Amino acid sequence: MIVERIWAANSLRNFHYLIACAETGEALIVDPLNAAQCLGAARAKGLEIRQVLNTHEHRDHTDGNAGVVAATGARVLAHAGGASVIGGVDRGLARGDVIRIGRTVELEVLDTPGHTRSHVCLLAHGDTPALFCGDTLFNAGAGNCHNGGDPGLLYETFVNQLARLPDATRVYPGHEYMARNLAFTLDREPGNREAAVALEAAMTQMPEEARVTTMGEEKRVNAFLRLQHPEVIAKLREKFPEIGEKPDARTVFVKLRELRNSW
Ligand SMILES: [Zn+2]
Ligand SMILES: [Zn+2]
Repeated sequence: MIVERIWAANSLRNFHYLIACAETGEALIVDPLNAAQCLGAARAKGLEIRQVLNTHEHRDHTDGNAGVVAATGARVLAHAGGASVIGGVDRGLARGDVIRIGRTVELEVLDTPGHTRSHVCLLAHGDTPALFCGDTLFNAGAGNCHNGGDPGLLYETFVNQLARLPDATRVYPGHEYMARNLAFTLDREPGNREAAVALEAAMTQMPEEARVTTMGEEKRVNAFLRLQHPEVIAKLREKFPEIGEKPDARTVFVKLRELRNSW
């Protein structure tokens, strides 16, 4: 499986991804925003875009659809529940569906509501599993729930699906927010040495060169995956005394998300 990350160089800090079959050069583009840029990247690598996938319905993940389709005739895939908002969707997706790219790539569709109610992540199995997670999971962070989302649903997605993936799973999010998110983790958990080292590295890194993390690392530096950690809970109680001494994981997650909204 070939994965090409494309940095959109915009203020929202989007990433697009080309996922391709190494044998046939057929490719799927994830969340095209700037169509010309996506088409140029595929051309430069000798890849032929045959499918477009939108992780969810927000415009910064779909605005490039029309341009890519006009140039390539690609089929558009998206969550069945978001298809009418996106428009022009050829294949509505549900949990457990399989997306094939060329002869060698198979991606499993995960139904991952929370950032919006109709959000999919793609999971590539194999020796180096990979997760294309849109605005659900970010490096060291979690998507917001401002535009059609629900933090309780996002919590369910995190604990029941994402946290259960193998530690070796490579994480490919829809935006580059690594430094800001690590700073949030450190504000919750000042004793997190690994997050401090990662933040130092992220501060001096160009976004297009951002490191690809794994789920194993996310479990160590992402506050939204550290809901039982005593320091996380103690610091959260300073802001929200009402959560008590032994809040359940769902309460911790929802309060972390609330705090991050204004942080
Ligand atoms: Zn979004
Ligand atoms: Zn987004």
